[in-house]
Amino acid sequence: MSDAVTLAIAVLAESFNAKVENLPAMRLKLLQKALAGVPAPILEPMVLRAIRTRKPRWGDLPAPAELLEDAEYARLELVKALGLYESCCECEDQVGWRTVTHPDGAKVERCGCWRRRQAKLAQLGVGAEPLALPAGRRDGEFTDNEREW
Ligand SMILES: [Zn+2]
Repeated sequence: MSDAVTLAIAVLAESFNAKVENLPAMRLKLLQKALAGVPAPILEPMVLRAIRTRKPRWGDLPAPAELLEDAEYARLELVKALGLYESCCECEDQVGWRTVTHPDGAKVERCGCWRRRQAKLAQLGVGAEPLALPAGRRDGEFTDNEREW
């Protein structure tokens, strides 16, 4: 588990009046597993959003699914901050693509503006795809430890 995830859980615990050492082991494990999939640049805004918007629950933390919702919200905010993707003068007719003429014929390739956009998203660690949420499970698939929350 990364230090960033440990720090995020510690800050959440302090803010929600919980003690990490008092959380059931399974709960802590699932929380760590869920947050391990969140890109590092999103952890801090995720924690801030959880603190600002989630109701206090004395001695416990928001559920992993709630934190993943907050992480997705934070990711969308970071993507929004980049601004809308707009085509450049080289690709205005076929946004993000351009036709390049090679000796053996014309080929359609990704435009440089699209590549630069992808590089910026990668640099932020936020990607263009939504964060994967854990798959839903039927009631019978929960263990006794998980069922209580
Ligand atoms: Zn372009």
